[in-house]
Amino acid sequence: MAGKRVLEFDGLRKSYGANRVLDGVSFAVAPGSMFGFCGSNGAGKTTTMRIAMGLVRADAGEVRWQGRPLDQALRRRIGYMPEERGLYPKMRVGEQLAYFARLHGLDGAAAARAAEHWADRLGLGERRRDQVEKLSLGNQQRVQLAAALVSRPEVLILDEPFSGLDPVGVDALAEALLEQVRGGVPVVFSSHQLDLVERLCDAVGILARGAMVATGPVAELRRRESGRLLRVVVP
Ligand code: ATP
Repeated sequence: MAGKRVLEFDGLRKSYGANRVLDGVSFAVAPGSMFGFCGSNGAGKTTTMRIAMGLVRADAGEVRWQGRPLDQALRRRIGYMPEERGLYPKMRVGEQLAYFARLHGLDGAAAARAAEHWADRLGLGERRRDQVEKLSLGNQQRVQLAAALVSRPEVLILDEPFSGLDPVGVDALAEALLEQVRGGVPVVFSSHQLDLVERLCDAVGILARGAMVATGPVAELRRRESGRLLRVVVP
């Protein structure tokens, strides 16, 4: 089991009052792979990721990592990028990254080194002393990704990491994620941009009205469904 599926989302259900948001969402992510999680607005992508991170309680189902239900200790090993972002606008980029590294248990010197490393790796080296609010949206998203990477996570779960980025920002972020995958870190990210998912991902899951309507390699889905399902994502 651990060999083929590092992360398993199994039968997630969630309702808010009468609104059934997730109706048995299941999919699995293979080790060292990139999984794209697609669906139109309100399909339930954020809710699924929040359940994985323990921010929302599922009514039923669970998320497992190598066969073990995710608990807070395992979640500390996941790099998470929330949709609503979580940066402190007045903090400088370097301070912010070091702060997130310390939150994950790195001591002061190691946190500073990690902050410097990831700022450089994501092309933020010259921005390290800038306040986050002074950065472009694309650079803020790089900071957010760097914040997820400073703790050397073993899995990345990213909610709409590409939204609002220009093509240069998309390429920089895509390259950083591919490098993680090449290093053995599986990545799950949500997106509306199917072309991007097709370019980057080994597999995709398509969510519609709280149910997974298809999973598999994008090219295979395109062949199998002649575009029918893909219109669920790109109406
Ligand atoms: P988007 O792409 O717009 O972010 P999404 O696929 O991530 O959409 P969710 O944010 O998971 O979808 O929302 C799914 C549904 O659940 C929506 O109808 C939303 O209004 C509802 N919902 C989400 N969170 C709550 C909440 N805390 N209380 C009530 N309803 C909620």
